Amino acid sequence: MNDSKKTTIASNSGADMDAVVVGAGFAGLYMLYKLREMGLDARVYESGDGVGGTWYWNRYPGARCDVPSFEYSYSFDPRLEQEWDWSELYPSQPEILAYIEHVAQRHDLYRDIVFNTRITTLAYDESQHLWRFVADNGQEKTARFAVLAVGPLSVPVIPDFPGLDSFKGTIVHTGRWPKAGIDVNGKRVAVIGSGSSAIQVSPELAKTADRVFMLQRSPAYSVPSRNRPLTATDILEAKSNYPAIRARAQANRSALGFKTGEQSALEVDDQTREQIYEERWQGGGLAFTGAFHDIFTDTEANKTAGDFVRKKIREMVEDQSIADHLMPETLIGCKRLCVDNGYLPMFNRDNVELVDLRERPIQHLTENSVCVGNDQLPIDVLVLATGFDAITGAQLKMDIAGRNGLQLKDKWQEGPKNYLGLAVEGFPNLFMVSGPGSPAGLANMVTLAEQNVDVISGLIHSTLTSGASAIEALADAETNWVKHVNELASETIYPLANSWYVGANVPGKPRIFMPHLDYPLYRRRCEEVISAGCEGFRLQ
Ligand code: FAD
Ligand code: NAP
Repeated sequence: MNDSKKTTIASNSGADMDAVVVGAGFAGLYMLYKLREMGLDARVYESGDGVGGTWYWNRYPGARCDVPSFEYSYSFDPRLEQEWDWSELYPSQPEILAYIEHVAQRHDLYRDIVFNTRITTLAYDESQHLWRFVADNGQEKTARFAVLAVGPLSVPVIPDFPGLDSFKGTIVHTGRWPKAGIDVNGKRVAVIGSGSSAIQVSPELAKTADRVFMLQRSPAYSVPSRNRPLTATDILEAKSNYPAIRARAQANRSALGFKTGEQSALEVDDQTREQIYEERWQGGGLAFTGAFHDIFTDTEANKTAGDFVRKKIREMVEDQSIADHLMPETLIGCKRLCVDNGYLPMFNRDNVELVDLRERPIQHLTENSVCVGNDQLPIDVLVLATGFDAITGAQLKMDIAGRNGLQLKDKWQEGPKNYLGLAVEGFPNLFMVSGPGSPAGLANMVTLAEQNVDVISGLIHSTLTSGASAIEALADAETNWVKHVNELASETIYPLANSWYVGANVPGKPRIFMPHLDYPLYRRRCEEVISAGCEGFRLQ
């Protein structure tokens, strides 16, 4: 987009700025970079007091990425790839946060980011083709374009446990861990949850806490990460191969670097299958469920992978009566696979107690305990690792009104509808990154954020260079997209689980499988739309 300076427009439209971006995580920062590259005047609004998004908020001990550092990083700045040295195979939260802060500094992004400011309302002014937005401090501004980079996992779910308010100890959600940390030394801690966050935080807490009660409703599948420090050779090799690393991600269904096996889990003999799973298990990480091509399309194939993990649980947890309660019963991978650093061995510690909530449900909290079944567990700290209102939560927390006052909440009452995961009919000049209908949550999210931002930039550029004031998804294109996303999902076993992918973790949320399941196909569709001159959009 070297002719992009010509696109400096909206200043003529009477708007306060060309574009407003909501959110300063990986997506929002790159969006700002691209808008500036197009010569546009943009501002980012962020409710936190720093950049980083997920990695700003989730500061719990043990928080780390489960995508290798060389893959979970921006590709748009090749010099950065060469200059930044990752220290571990799977980077920790502090290291990722330092990386994002460095990017913001390096590209002089801070000067256009407004921190400590939550956007509460966005309303489209059809007569002027611009968005009026309001912040929680009452400030009101206008922008020609609005980009929601609000994150697929940024709104914590806090269950309504009876008596929660009466608890006098420390209550913390993993996604709102305080900067100062929480000292659990010698304290009694209850962790509610057994998803990725619980699995990461609990082994760390168990190292110093007097006692850790693991309050588990559904046993989860977890695979060891095999995290390790990167050697000088690892780093040199990655730096010489970045184009290949990125190309591998672009070709993978989840935008990850591993290769999915070409065989069916059911076509090999038992010994070969066992050996292949063992190799993946020893290799560590998310590649485990890539062992065979049909793990996500055939329940029998899936069961072989689940059985392997159940066998590992038996081997790794010494007390078999505890192991019994840790056995996942669902299909593997249909809830996001967890990747851990010492989760199962943690149950061999004397100070860790597994509480199976299926047998002893949470009754209520008192000022110093959590009551499960007929038991009262005395605690000082309550950790809610209870997840997020995923993929649509942050958009729907705002009041967003499109043409004719149409509310996004109303439009999405029966489930989210949009085109390419990026744009909604009735909401011109509004885009979302990692929204429903994109591979949000299933793909490497930095790769997806960059791809989404590039497409949004292309759409904005096309709008401006065509002399149009607004771009809007067409109703037919939207309907067909939703159908396409659902069809892809229905060819798999993903929708069978009560996961956050289908909104099952939030009471009252419509049950719809939200993510697009094939990143390379998704990317190609987006490229075709751009090269066909914004096919499926109306420019006006
Ligand atoms: P976010 O990083 O969530 O940033 C969104 C920002 O928008 C937040 O800072 C939020 O405060 C702000 N915001 C939201 N609403 C408003 C508003 N109304 N006004 C102002 N500001 C607002 N993905 C992977 O691919 N691999 C991983 O290993 C991985 N690990 C994860 C670990 C954890 C603990 C969590 C919670 C998520 C993980 N994810 C992972 C997903 C992760 O969310 C994405 O990888 C990525 O960081 C999302 O970037 P983003 O910029 O789209 O959103
Ligand atoms: P999650 O996967 O949604 O897990 C939430 C956990 O809380 C589940 O075990 C759930 O049980 C439990 N829970 C929720 N409400 C409960 C209630 N009322 N009573 C008892 N238990 C309750 O959330 P998460 O662990 O924060 O992870 C969310 C996503 O963030 C992950 O899937 C992943 O994409 C990302 N993440 C990644 C990493 C990483 O390794 N890089 C780390 C953390 C998060 P049920 O299953 O029974 O509902």
